[in-house]
Amino acid sequence: MLNATTKQLQAIQSAAEAIVARRPAYRQLMAFYGDLFQLQTAMGERVAADPPPLPEFGETDRSLPLISPRDFAINGDRAAELLKSVSRRAETSGSDLADDARTIAEALEGERFEPREAFGALLQDRWEVLGSIAEQIGVKAATLSFFTYHSLLPELRHTAERLAKRTMDGRNWRQGHCPVCGTPPALSLIDAGGERHLLCGFCWEKWRVARAGCPLCRSAERGAHTYFYSDAEPEYRVEACDACKRYVKTVDTRCLNRPFYGPLEAVATLHLDLQATEKGYDGTLPGYLK
Ligand SMILES: [Zn+2]
Ligand SMILES: [Zn+2]
Repeated sequence: MLNATTKQLQAIQSAAEAIVARRPAYRQLMAFYGDLFQLQTAMGERVAADPPPLPEFGETDRSLPLISPRDFAINGDRAAELLKSVSRRAETSGSDLADDARTIAEALEGERFEPREAFGALLQDRWEVLGSIAEQIGVKAATLSFFTYHSLLPELRHTAERLAKRTMDGRNWRQGHCPVCGTPPALSLIDAGGERHLLCGFCWEKWRVARAGCPLCRSAERGAHTYFYSDAEPEYRVEACDACKRYVKTVDTRCLNRPFYGPLEAVATLHLDLQATEKGYDGTLPGYLK
């Protein structure tokens, strides 16, 4: 009998292989993310066994998110351990991040920066702090925030899942930002029954929204909501809105011949972000996910 973690890893692996089979240009990226998700999934099991404390949250009957990103409690030792193993793994990935990854791992091992300071800065949206740590150790700020975010993700996921389980029942949330932490979505998906959901760009919580109109600003203005897609990729489309000038990438899981794994689909569709940006729309994807 396979345990849940093994099953999830196999699903991620087969999704990554299916993506590479169709778009060989993504081979290196998928290999890199495959390793990253594997380390995160294994850490997720440890987080589940010893979860961080649940933050206090607001009224669930109001139309406000329960908490803000800064309210997530995390276990700094565990996240630092993941930061080290993720950077060490990325160092040999052959990706663009390899050199910076090695520098981050060496700086951590040489105690040249305090990882807790980086975690706090990411949660509090204090980019100037991340920027100065990056400068001090000699890496790009974008790389440091990318690794910092991914080291926190197993902690964030676990807290978001528990909060959602406690509060989502009967909560009529249809907004264009996350009901748990208020962040805009990284992705939208259509489920087997044709319902639309959004996936948070910070904690990856999923919530259902109306099928029609712009999922981000909820504008139903006639003609303001357009989409584009490619015949070669029937499972993807980009939905763009002329009312809020933003777009969101949608995965129609009814056309998907592989397991759906949100974080993987978000990076397997970077070519769509380019197209949407060229057409003059703004993305909702935060910098640490690009
Ligand atoms: Zn969220
Ligand atoms: Zn809109």
